This record gives sequence, structure tokens and C-alpha cells, in this order.
Amino acid sequence: MVRTVQLSQVIHGPVLLPHPVTRQGFSSPVSPGTGWPGDPADATTPVATTAAAVRRLARTSASVEELTARVSVCRACPRLVAWREEVATTGRRASFADQPYWGRPGPSFGDPDAPVVIVGLAPAANGTNRTGRMFTGDRSGDWLYAALHRTGYASRPTSVSAGDGLRLTGIRIVAAVRCAPPENKPLPVERETCGSWLDRDLTLSAPGLRSMLALGGIAWDATLASARRLGWAVPTPKPRFGHGVETTLATAAGRPVRLVASYHVSQQNTFTGKLTEPMLDAVIRRL
Ligand code: SF4
Repeated sequence: MVRTVQLSQVIHGPVLLPHPVTRQGFSSPVSPGTGWPGDPADATTPVATTAAAVRRLARTSASVEELTARVSVCRACPRLVAWREEVATTGRRASFADQPYWGRPGPSFGDPDAPVVIVGLAPAANGTNRTGRMFTGDRSGDWLYAALHRTGYASRPTSVSAGDGLRLTGIRIVAAVRCAPPENKPLPVERETCGSWLDRDLTLSAPGLRSMLALGGIAWDATLASARRLGWAVPTPKPRFGHGVETTLATAAGRPVRLVASYHVSQQNTFTGKLTEPMLDAVIRRL
């Protein structure tokens, strides 16, 4: 099977597989602006290939939409670019072998003017890296979107594929790192490079921001570090992560923003009962 695909690629160019919702054919990774549902970028979107370029393109993004487009084509971390594209081409999970893989950074998802922002860790290799939407197509997303539906933020309880009609109101989901990392472990330098996108996300959200939810300790640390870089008031000593912990920051303009912590919605936590549905609902209801 693999040999047949490779041979046809040589003869006919990239293999096109049908999107699970629209049935349009896509190569993996997906080229910007070719019709993937929710693709924020097009062929003219500038591509960051270095940390300096991430800083520059983030700083000059005038809107959440422009920022999200630029994030979605970023190539600044060589190890993560190689990994996300390897998974998208030769490393697809057998159960998804008939689907195209997004194979690009996960764009933020939700209401661009939201007063509430969720900060996740990083895309999953066969979740966001396949579907092109945050927390979509894996068990973590099943938990998160069900909770967002129960608490009134999501139009439906499931998130299976981009293009499935799901809408978020009053909330937007971003991540500390936007590319799927091997073993879900981004390197410090990758967290630092991607932090510039997070900085801009928080800056653009700041004027109307009320609260944030950090999913897991890495997201908690990344959010506090971003707030510090942006000159926001952050309590000292640094508040320690723990489920249900809450602290109040103040934006550079003096606007108070509550930061709430939750255990991550990973299977490691949800399967073991470390994080239960009532626990997750309770922190989301506080946002
Ligand atoms: S992890 Fe972030 S900075 Fe690195 S390539 Fe992906 S989007 Fe770009």
C-alpha cells in the first residue's frame, strides 16, 4: 500500500485524499488557501522560518484573524515542522489512513473577540495535526468540547472535523505551542519561539479580556511568562499550578484578568479520574 502511494506520487504528484466532511481532495500537509474548512491562510500569507521572523510577524499582526493566519503557516521550529509533516505523510494512524492530514500549526479557534481565552499545551499528532482545529479529533477534545457545550460556550458537544458546524461563543482556544511535538514534549527553545505568537494573542485579546483558563502546568507557566513579557502585573512569588488555583493578573492598561488553572484534559488525567467532568465544568463556570 505504502509503495503504491509513493509510486503514484512520483508519477502523478501529491496524493489527494477526501476531507471527511466536504469530500474535497487535499494533499497532506494541506497547502494554505486550498479550501480546507476554517483555513485562515492563503498563498500570500507570510511564513516565519526563524524565531526572529515569528517575533516580527506576531508584532505586526493587526488582528486575531491576521495573527491566526500567520501562525497556521509558521515553519520556525525545524524539529516540529519535520515531525508534524512526517506524521501527516508517512506516519498517519491506520484508522485515519483514508484522510488528509492538516500537517500545519494549529490555528486558534473560537470567537476572535472573546472575553475568555483557553490556553492549551500543544496539538496532538493525530488530533489537531490531522483536523486543523484545536482539540479536534481526539479524546482530549471530546472532553473539552462536551464541557464547553454544557457550560454554554459551544454550539454542540462534539468536535470531530473542521467544517462540522461547531461554533464557539465568548471563548477562544489558543496553545502554548502550536505544532504537534514528539511525545507531546516541546523543547524549551520551541516553547520560547512559539511564545511570541501567544504574546500577540494575549495582546490582541487584552482590551476585552476577562479571564483565562490554563490547561495543565505547561500552559499555566507559558501564560504567566507571556503576561510578564507583556508588562502585565503578575503576583510574586509565581502562583503555583494546581487544579482550581486562581490568580489575578493586570494587563498593561490595568485591566484585571483572572487566570484559572485546570488539570489538562489528556487521557492520562481523564481515564484515571484525576480530572472528572464536574471538576472541569466547575472551573469553566468560574471563567
Ligand atoms: S511551534 Fe510555534 S513557532 Fe514553532 S513552528 Fe510551530 S507555530 Fe512556529
